[in-house]
Amino acid sequence: MPIMSDKQRYRIATKVAHLGREPRRFMGVVNTPVFRASTILFERVRDLEAATRGEFPGLTYGLHGLPTVSDLASALAALEGGHAAFVVPSGLTATTFPLLALAKPGDHVLVTDAVYGPTRRFCDHHLRRFGVDVSYYDPLLGERIVECFRDNTTLVFTESPGSLTFEVQDVPAIAAIAHARGARVLLDNTWATPIGFRSFEHGVDVSIQAATKYIGGHSDVLLGAVIANEATFAPLAQFWTDMGIAASTDDAFLALRGLRTLAVRLPRHAESAYAVASWLAKRPEVREVLYPPLPGDRGHALWKRDFTAASGLFGVVLHPVAADALARMLDGLHLFGMGWSWGGFESLIIPTWPERARTATTWNPGGPTLRIAIGLEDPRDLIADLEEGFARLEK
Ligand SMILES: *Cc1c(COP(=O)(O)O)cnc(C)c1O
Repeated sequence: MPIMSDKQRYRIATKVAHLGREPRRFMGVVNTPVFRASTILFERVRDLEAATRGEFPGLTYGLHGLPTVSDLASALAALEGGHAAFVVPSGLTATTFPLLALAKPGDHVLVTDAVYGPTRRFCDHHLRRFGVDVSYYDPLLGERIVECFRDNTTLVFTESPGSLTFEVQDVPAIAAIAHARGARVLLDNTWATPIGFRSFEHGVDVSIQAATKYIGGHSDVLLGAVIANEATFAPLAQFWTDMGIAASTDDAFLALRGLRTLAVRLPRHAESAYAVASWLAKRPEVREVLYPPLPGDRGHALWKRDFTAASGLFGVVLHPVAADALARMLDGLHLFGMGWSWGGFESLIIPTWPERARTATTWNPGGPTLRIAIGLEDPRDLIADLEEGFARLEK
């Protein structure tokens, strides 16, 4: 849970290269090495005793943050402009831990109906089990979310663009209402990363990253981050410590390595995604492309107002097509893999079923929904692969 650094004055690409590392501390080594430790030895009983009171300034125990992990945390906190960050073992832990840390029995929590599926599952199974009232709201409500508030509403969970369906939320409007009601706003900011959406400048109290995705960037690490503003830091820190949540130091090393190239990778993902999405939007097989950076997208105006960059993940709704034809299209693709997660260098495609999860709204787009993650391949090759795939729909 380290503090902000003095590198805030730099532009984003510079920050990404320099935050969260101090070679001086490690014999000049450029990257903070992998520290593997449980026990940390103290020289004096006085120091050990100070550590029990939380008053020892150095390392105290492996669980409480080894340098590889805390350097990743400080980099992510500074990058997003938050007070401090907590690195946790997965993106899912990053969505569930702040909910559990901040909600108490009798509270009411508002959750966007376009929330990442496993976050919804956690709310339904566990927040409710602990006596927290959960209700889902239309992601497009904007300031009309006021009508969903109850006297006991303490948290509003947002995710923008929405998982699978890519609705852009009016986060500043939601935050203004939440704050006027004394509620806190959480945002799953995985799609945009700290480069694409400045959470804290838009009223968010807790920003969440599945670092598994673009920050890791290579489909080889599971990690999450929770970035808090100053007012929310203390309850999160208490819970994080009391729960014994610790992220792997090797995974933190990989995430730091991924982070160093984020400012180069993300624009390439976005540029290629824009090319593929624009091509798709003109195809006769396609009913709608769900990609807020596209002019025509339902969320484009809000995206343009609030976001500073895009990423490479979007949805596609096809015109109705037989399930076996769609399977022929997808099974035969050469460059697009089928599998969960995204944010890696390789392109992915999966069918999705948003209609199965919704409770506050319906998802009825008039054809099958797909999700596409555009990797770092040449988009012309990706388009050719999809074009051959569309030809298989006809057979
Ligand atoms: C993938 C994802 C998560 C969870 O990340 P894991 O590391 O896979 O647990 C959370 N939120 C969103 C929006 C995601 O896409």
